[in-house]
Amino acid sequence: MVLDDLGSSLRGSLDQLRGKSRLDEEDVEDIVKEIQRSLLQADVSVDLVMDLSEDIRQRALDEEPPGGTSARDHVLRIVYEELVDLVGESTDLPLEDQTIMLAGLQGSGKTTTAAKMAWWFSKKGLRPGVIQTDTFRPGAYDQAKQMAERAEVEFYGEPDNDNPVEIAEHGMEELLDVDVLIVDTAGRHALEETLIDELEQIESVVEPDRNLLVLDAAIGQGAKEQADRFDDAVGIDGVTITKLDGTAKGGGALAAVDRTDSSIAFLGTGEEVQDIERFEPDGFISRLLG
Ligand code: GDP
Repeated sequence: MVLDDLGSSLRGSLDQLRGKSRLDEEDVEDIVKEIQRSLLQADVSVDLVMDLSEDIRQRALDEEPPGGTSARDHVLRIVYEELVDLVGESTDLPLEDQTIMLAGLQGSGKTTTAAKMAWWFSKKGLRPGVIQTDTFRPGAYDQAKQMAERAEVEFYGEPDNDNPVEIAEHGMEELLDVDVLIVDTAGRHALEETLIDELEQIESVVEPDRNLLVLDAAIGQGAKEQADRFDDAVGIDGVTITKLDGTAKGGGALAAVDRTDSSIAFLGTGEEVQDIERFEPDGFISRLLG
């Protein structure tokens, strides 16, 4: 399926290859240019696009097409394999007891994602709970509580306490019987020291098995710095890209995956608790190129 999508997005340059059994440099360059255009439009960082281009060039010209394979199919296969390598595999999330902490800037979609993930785990037969520690953003408590109710999952928060570390501590004591604990944290408008300090303190209380960085699909070059800061502070094990139902393709988030040496866990595709998909490379590649 994704090879068909890939084929149609590269139609112009692939048509030139009709009837050819070998590729020349010019053919490869035309294909690389088209891929570059699509990926840059999807906000994939220039560095990543350049690395991918170089890999495609080398392989397309060096590797001998397997017997009977046309030049078209050969290059299409290489482009596909390199794109899979670029976007990576899905973050491993075993269906077992675990604690997951969410990190990210304000508005990236953490609170929504916490409820969505809890809903997702509940559909897998586990018993999830959400701890809401965002005391910074007005309305975060009510929003989180309502969403947890809609997802029909356990919830802990304290609307009148402004100490997120205390709330995390109490939440850990209250939600002892859940299988998957999802800890929502406060963001800030920018990468402030207070945000990082708070996150480190919450982390030391909840001792998460995994930390996921939540990024808005519209993120561009800012992804690198955010990824570096959060990774230095608490270690990032996976990325969730939200708001993919909008026009943004989310390619900027790949820089965060690359910097943190992690992978993508989930995609957010709307405002409701059910609007969540597990990341899988083929669908994301089709989206990136579409
Ligand atoms: P937080 O500050 O990181 O907790 O962000 P929120 O979870 O409050 O999300 C910020 C805004 O983005 C809210 O209005 C959400 O409804 C919206 N939002 C979050 N995820 C998605 C998504 O996948 N699609 C759309 N369309 N909106 C989203």
